[in-house]
Amino acid sequence: MSSQWIFLNGQFVNKEEAVVSVYDHGFLYGDGVFEGIRAYSGNVFRLEEHLKRLYESAQSILLDVPYTKEELKQIIVNTIRHNELDNAYIRVVVSRGAGNLGLDPSSCSAPRVVVIAEALALFPKELYERGLRLGSVSTRRNRPDVLSPQVKSLNYLNNILVKLEANQAGVDEALMLNDQGYVTEGSADNIFIVKNGTIYTPPVYLGALEGVTRNAIIDLAKEHGYDLKEEPFTRHDVYVADEVFLTGTAAEVIAVVEVDQRKIGEGKPGEMTNELLALFRELVTRDGVQCYPDRQQDAVV
Ligand code: PMP
Repeated sequence: MSSQWIFLNGQFVNKEEAVVSVYDHGFLYGDGVFEGIRAYSGNVFRLEEHLKRLYESAQSILLDVPYTKEELKQIIVNTIRHNELDNAYIRVVVSRGAGNLGLDPSSCSAPRVVVIAEALALFPKELYERGLRLGSVSTRRNRPDVLSPQVKSLNYLNNILVKLEANQAGVDEALMLNDQGYVTEGSADNIFIVKNGTIYTPPVYLGALEGVTRNAIIDLAKEHGYDLKEEPFTRHDVYVADEVFLTGTAAEVIAVVEVDQRKIGEGKPGEMTNELLALFRELVTRDGVQCYPDRQQDAVV
């Protein structure tokens, strides 16, 4: 691609010129919220759900997004169009804006909105075929009464710390527990286990982000007659599960074949994981906000 256009401060600017103030409290304090969204063949998957989560995160930290949901939806679509993208990863950031060095947000003049759309770097196919190795980490998930995991804030240190631990342990991803020892999620993905034909995922109140992919998988599983329960479980339940998989915008549905050096099931991606991945990949082709409705009409003519 010759140039990449970023939506910043109400206009499209070239990537090289897309800079924000070092006094922005998003930079100084992680004061802001964000979303990671994906477009498949020009269709933005579950855009309304992502926007709902973004506005709820902003509401929770008393941050006014300076656009209506409808306006922001259009800005996201326009950013994809402006960059002529079909399969894209989209990052939306709303920061508190530039203020002074004190942490008090009342010094910040106006929130900043940034939308970045990039061609998607897909997870390698081999990773889906081989499955991931997970390691549980000592850093606990943020307690919901301290900084709720439902707030997708620019302060992602909790998740970064667990990713560092996973890197140090030489595994692909971290398994995060809450302060009671219940399983919550990965560093940037939700977790599911399968035992005796039933699928389990932790209730979000235990301390997991309510993932858009997670919710899509729950709906798909129920629609297709799978038995699915949102119930607390421990590391032991993960160790003895028949299948384990993670879900997220970037990873979609990805198998886990080893947890803390315990082989899961037969040590390869399980049948139900593969079925749900196939159902999910089919869903993303027919569900989404179209960025190029004009193009589809052309195709019919
Ligand atoms: N948990 C965390 C902590 C995340 O950052 C993400 C990625 N947004 C997820 C779960 C998965 O959420 P989603 O399916 O909406 O991408």
